Amino acid sequence: MYVCKFGGSSLADSAQIKKVKALIESSSERSIVVVSAPGKRNRDDVKITDLLYSCDEAASKGKSMDSLFAGIEDRFNGICSGLGIDPGDLTGELEEIKKNITAGYGPDYAASRGEYLSAKVLSTYFNMVFIDAQEVIRLTADGRVDVQSYELLKERIADGKRYIIPGFYGADPEGKVKTFSRGGSDITGAIAARAAGAAMYENWTDVSGLLMADPRIFDNPPGIREITYREIRELAILGANVFHEEAIAPVKDAGIPINIRNTNDPDAAGTVILESRNPEDIPVAGISGKNGYLPVYVEKFMLGRYPDFTSGILNTLGSAGLSADFIFYGNDSITFLVKKTRDIDGSRIKEILSGISCDGIEVESPAAVFGVVGEGLGSRAGIGAAVFTALAEKNINVRFTSYGGSRVSFLAGVDEPDFMEAMNAVYAVLK
Ligand code: ASP
Repeated sequence: MYVCKFGGSSLADSAQIKKVKALIESSSERSIVVVSAPGKRNRDDVKITDLLYSCDEAASKGKSMDSLFAGIEDRFNGICSGLGIDPGDLTGELEEIKKNITAGYGPDYAASRGEYLSAKVLSTYFNMVFIDAQEVIRLTADGRVDVQSYELLKERIADGKRYIIPGFYGADPEGKVKTFSRGGSDITGAIAARAAGAAMYENWTDVSGLLMADPRIFDNPPGIREITYREIRELAILGANVFHEEAIAPVKDAGIPINIRNTNDPDAAGTVILESRNPEDIPVAGISGKNGYLPVYVEKFMLGRYPDFTSGILNTLGSAGLSADFIFYGNDSITFLVKKTRDIDGSRIKEILSGISCDGIEVESPAAVFGVVGEGLGSRAGIGAAVFTALAEKNINVRFTSYGGSRVSFLAGVDEPDFMEAMNAVYAVLK
């Protein structure tokens, strides 16, 4: 059987939902469905989840949320009417939700109601058994998947009916509603696939799978037919986000492939994320990158003698709410790449690290990092050379590099103003 997760754009209005129904009914294998809250119908629209967060914010400030909540009621009533369901069925639920948000149930509760209501309405329309995620999905206190969820859900689906589960939330260790981070319905879908021992986790969205590079930057990048869990993780770290990065773990461990597909183009095969692939024909899966980093260069003579030195710096950064997304090691020095924000500049970072015993700290000029990701990197000669040559031809200096630590990625850091030109030069030789 397959677990199918449908994202907000696939459920934004009754016309989209009708496409989803046809998809579910076209295959008897599609027996567990995980849904997001209704998303945007067009570019200027507001997601139900965002409206719910705004309602909670208004309530927490003692302001009226009447007009915001009316927007939510209108959306759901419109969906019901479009599907031929009596909108009156939801009146009691909506009243209770409004009352609870006003009573201060908090942002997690408020945000979760978009998925809850979506699944409630669709359970009627799809004729599937509704399972409340609060009863079967458990989150740890810091918002991660609690492995108990697999057993709990497995028991609930044991009688083999067809089920619909709201995504994005579950219960915290005290049983209160808690959400995953934004986009977290992907995680619920992965948990359901693992619990059900699914043959496939279908993730239905509004694009026909992943592309080799960001289409906002590059012209018509080719689609990716197959990509491994390792490759997708590396691309996610480098900023490519089509699929929630925490949604990989539950299915990866069970070896369940993920198929990213397009509700608006169901004939397209999409991208399959799987354990391994043959890198012979396509050594490089994708290219992605991020800018806006401050390189923090820390010098310490005989660094290797102080095994706790790196973790000391990371902990100090962590206590200030910062992290180093990339780290480049030397023998007597290390460079940590920390995201620059409105409040975080060089002097603030030096202040945070002032208690560290070292021979000097310098915060260097802003940098960008991009990576070439592919299972073929470990075995194919010449990829590194091609990247360096492409950059040298544009007279772009490589400030950092890492190759071999990960078997599937080659990272390069350049001056921030060179970012786009560097990515373009590399893409041109590897595409
Ligand atoms: N509705 C939630 C969000 O907008 C979760 C999801 O769609 O996956 O982030």
